[in-house]
Amino acid sequence: MNLILLGAPGAGKGTQAEKICEKLSIPAISTGNILREAIANKTEMGLKAKSFIDAGKLVPDEVVIGIINDRLKEDDCKNGFILDGFPRTIPQAEALDRMDVHIDRVIDIEVPDEKIASRLSGRRVCLKCGATYHTEFKQPKVEGVCDVCGDVLVQRKDDMPETVLDRLATYHEQTEPLKDFYSEKGILRIVEGQQEVADTTALTFKALED
Ligand code: ADP
Ligand code: ADP
Ligand code: ZN
Repeated sequence: MNLILLGAPGAGKGTQAEKICEKLSIPAISTGNILREAIANKTEMGLKAKSFIDAGKLVPDEVVIGIINDRLKEDDCKNGFILDGFPRTIPQAEALDRMDVHIDRVIDIEVPDEKIASRLSGRRVCLKCGATYHTEFKQPKVEGVCDVCGDVLVQRKDDMPETVLDRLATYHEQTEPLKDFYSEKGILRIVEGQQEVADTTALTFKALED
């Protein structure tokens, strides 16, 4: 199954991508994680992307379209994949249409803006393996240490309150129109994301089946 996860920053895309990945054994592909890895490795792409990410703006379409175009050609995507954080603009969605892939479902995880700030301010991430935690809602076994790979957990600079409002504005302006784009294709399913992680997971799995 080829899936897209849509939703505001902090809606729970990464968290649910992990659950679907476990259930269906298909890779979760996060453009955010790929970009952060590039920044950590100080690649040319990372250096270019950093100022956009830190400002809460989107990285130029051609950069992320290139990333996804290459990634989807890899062998592990043959039996399906989960796109987490791509597409984020109409031109990205149109570019995906032109790649040789068929999208089965688009799951839109909906959380009101008021709930987003606390999700993001408490988020802690592992830059090595991409695992995500929360100071209150998903604590690691040992504070500050990734359960999966043992690396140190960090707070993303763009999760600080001063950038979150910019990211939400970017989301409403540039990403939300994708709901209509996929609704017209008949593949959009809306999932309520305000409740606990397990509730959202149950709704997400249901949305994959109908
Ligand atoms: P979140 O999970 O909070 O929604 P991501 O990790 O997906 O955030 O993305 C972090 C940042 O990386 C975005 O604010 C944006 O600057 C950049 N980014 C990630 N994916 C894309 C994309 N598809 N198009 C443009 N920029 C992107
Ligand atoms: P996204 O990928 O959409 O930006 P994440 O999956 O990273 O969102 O979730 C944002 C933060 O909120 C993380 O710290 C995560 O642990 C936490 N989180 C995710 N889903 C829920 C939920 N249903 N209730 C409470 N916290 C959640
Ligand atoms: Zn890790």
